[in-house]
Amino acid sequence: MVTLTDNKELGYRTLLLATGGRPRTLNIPGNNLQGVYLLRTLTDANILREQITPGKRIVVVGSGFIGLEVAASALSKGAQVTIVEPQERIWPNIVSPELSAYFKQQFEKHGTQTYYGYGATEFIAGSDDKLASVRISPVQGSGQSQDIACDIAIAGIGIQLNTELAATADLEIDPRHGIVVDEHLETSVADIFAAGDVAAYPDPYAGRMHFEHWDNAIASGQIAAANMVGGDEPYRHVPYFFSDQFDLAINMLGYPSSSAQIVTRGDVNANKFTALYVQDGSLRAALMINDDAQMDLVRDLIAARAPVSNPQDLSSPSFDLSSLQPKDE
Ligand SMILES: Cc1cc2nc3c(=O)[nH]c(=O)nc-3n(C[C@H](O)[C@H](O)[C@H](O)COP(=O)(O)OP(=O)(O)OC[C@H]3O[C@@H](n4cnc5c(N)ncnc54)[C@H](O)[C@@H]3O)c2cc1C
Repeated sequence: MVTLTDNKELGYRTLLLATGGRPRTLNIPGNNLQGVYLLRTLTDANILREQITPGKRIVVVGSGFIGLEVAASALSKGAQVTIVEPQERIWPNIVSPELSAYFKQQFEKHGTQTYYGYGATEFIAGSDDKLASVRISPVQGSGQSQDIACDIAIAGIGIQLNTELAATADLEIDPRHGIVVDEHLETSVADIFAAGDVAAYPDPYAGRMHFEHWDNAIASGQIAAANMVGGDEPYRHVPYFFSDQFDLAINMLGYPSSSAQIVTRGDVNANKFTALYVQDGSLRAALMINDDAQMDLVRDLIAARAPVSNPQDLSSPSFDLSSLQPKDE
């Protein structure tokens, strides 16, 4: 039985939990000030669209995908943007230092001030009680705190998965990845399924994982639906996400790790290239910048764990990626 907020009760034969996540908030002084924003809903986006106008000074806290997309949009609207990020570089877990530098350069080229290795520690109000500056401090070492004057601050520091409802039904929860499901996306309680951001599914290559992206929400929703009406379909899905920043159409496939050997193919200076990730002798992931012509092939190669004996070969434009396809037995 599912109880609604008005106490109405709904029976079910099969139930799907697709409760997603909510944005993490920065628990620092001043986070309720007017001028401090999060981005999750259409309403949030509409408010930001109205607020971000030419010349506005914006501090973006967090340089994950949401933070960088907001920063790129604000820059394209003529705002002045400062990015603050406690990690030492952009996406340190999934790209090489060279690729981090490439992305940072894209933002600096558009006039962004970046503070890597700094965290936001306080939102400070002006005499009108609205946000006037963000105090930032180095996360390591003895550097000085600084106050960045601004009109708007946007925190993009990830999401917290909405697992509370599942917990009330005593479903198994993985503290890091969400509601535990089996390969059919069924939870630890029979006939209750989970899909989307909140589903912690067993990936044959990566182990227990969840994936906070649109493509996974659609694909896992389809598999859960099939199994809820009696199907027998395991969830096998090469992770994929996209992000658009300035004129960069970014597509990421697979299981990127900065510890992989990363080989670049194409023309970095022309912003048209693919970084291929080789790990343990096989193709594991690809990051494509304005270069999606071979996306389906690369997805298939990652799914097949295509062996790569000599990673450097991949950088040659004449190397035919389809030759990596494992031959059928
Ligand atoms: C600003 C922004 C930009 C993004 N950009 C990209 C992008 O470029 N590419 C990409 O791949 N992905 C992107 N994403 C991620 C993508 O939107 C999510 O992965 C996707 O929405 C997840 O879908 P979902 O259905 O699992 O969860 P959600 O979309 O979070 O939906 C969950 C729903 O469940 C509701 N809910 C929660 N608890 C309860 C309850 N107890 N009872 C009833 N309802 C409940 C919530 O209110 C919500 O409506 C972006 C996300 C955001 C916020």
